[in-house]
Amino acid sequence: MWYNSCMRIDLPDNVKRIIDTLQQAGHEAYAVGGCVRDSLLQRDPEDWDITTSAKPSQVKKLFRRTVDTGIEHGTVTVMFGREGYEVTTYRLDGVYEDGRHPKNVTFTTSLEEDLKRRDFTINAMAYNDGTGIVDLFHGMDDMAGKTIRAVGDPKERFSEDALRMLRALRFSAQLDYVIEPETERAITELRNNLEKISAERIRTEIQKLLLSDHPDRIRGMHDLGISSIVLQEYDELDEASGDEIGHSLCRADKAVDVRLSILLLPMKNARGILKRLKYDNETIRRVMILTEHADEETELSKPAIRHSIVAVGNDLMPSLFALKRALRHQPDAYIDTYEKLYREILADNDCISLKDLAVTGTDLMNELNMKQGKELGSALQYLFSLVLDDPSLNEHAKLIELLKTQES
Ligand code: ATP
Ligand code: MG
Repeated sequence: MWYNSCMRIDLPDNVKRIIDTLQQAGHEAYAVGGCVRDSLLQRDPEDWDITTSAKPSQVKKLFRRTVDTGIEHGTVTVMFGREGYEVTTYRLDGVYEDGRHPKNVTFTTSLEEDLKRRDFTINAMAYNDGTGIVDLFHGMDDMAGKTIRAVGDPKERFSEDALRMLRALRFSAQLDYVIEPETERAITELRNNLEKISAERIRTEIQKLLLSDHPDRIRGMHDLGISSIVLQEYDELDEASGDEIGHSLCRADKAVDVRLSILLLPMKNARGILKRLKYDNETIRRVMILTEHADEETELSKPAIRHSIVAVGNDLMPSLFALKRALRHQPDAYIDTYEKLYREILADNDCISLKDLAVTGTDLMNELNMKQGKELGSALQYLFSLVLDDPSLNEHAKLIELLKTQES
């Protein structure tokens, strides 16, 4: 075993509590994987996972509140208040099915076996306060060398679970690491296996890559031949579009809708791609509106901007500005003025939604004897459009009068 007992990681109290409780009951327990990696890199871990020699039933007996999140794979979530911590029994993995987890898992009493099943050396370290870092596959050296290296034989590891190939690229983008040559060769050889992987798992990795600090590494999808399997549309772009996507992504806010829009804007079939990746309807809606309006040259006047706000939806305006700034298809001065006028419109509380109109359908029925239906709808739309042009018209009496004069 290779230990580094001098290295210290500041474990959160709840993680310490879980590890102490398991150890006091005679089991082994360590923080493991991404949280150890991120702590050593002084990054904030997304979640803290614990690996233990205790069997799931034993884990469940030791903690008051647990949830069987993946008990067949050995995972029990220990709850402290609203915080959950995944505690997983040491295991060996069989071949991964299409799903999130391997088909067969076998529990083991060996930490080494558990670390061996993990994807990359930097993800295969464990830690507790008593032992320090357990680093059997030289993850710390690979951190020093900024390298993504498969644990063991990369071809074998990618044959067990093809998603790992996309994960390699995702980690390289998150950490600004290079993929070690043999690991990289195995990817180019085995990339076709990605066909078997579910859209949801692929989406997760693509999204993490897009939201990373080095989203221009998306280019690696093409260089490694991964996009020919999971995003052919990216391969069809010319070199210049690919470069532009990379530059824009690096400038953009880390927001899913903005970064997805940048990626998909030059592609023909944005909606189809999002559906294929099983994106939720709200994300699809946002990206479709954002890409549609990304290059629109709204006139820099408040009336025109009010109309644009209605077309885009006020909730999407901040993302639209973020997108325009990242794309740089329009001069900064144009976007600055656009945004300044937009903010003034909000500060003035101008009517930008039908529900802010000073008359309602009921008013028109009561005061002008209009009947429910198409005519009423278009009368309201007509008034709304006039008010978007000129907010000073948004007074009850004025609007009723406007309709009366229109009718006569
Ligand atoms: P993130 O920052 O995205 O959470 P992570 O490394 O923690 O990254 P998780 O998906 O949370 O990734 O998985 C936790 C750990 O489980 C990993 O660090 C790795 O040790 C192991 N692991 C996850 N997915 C795989 C996989 N497909 N093959 C092998 N090991 C994996
Ligand atoms: Mg994690």
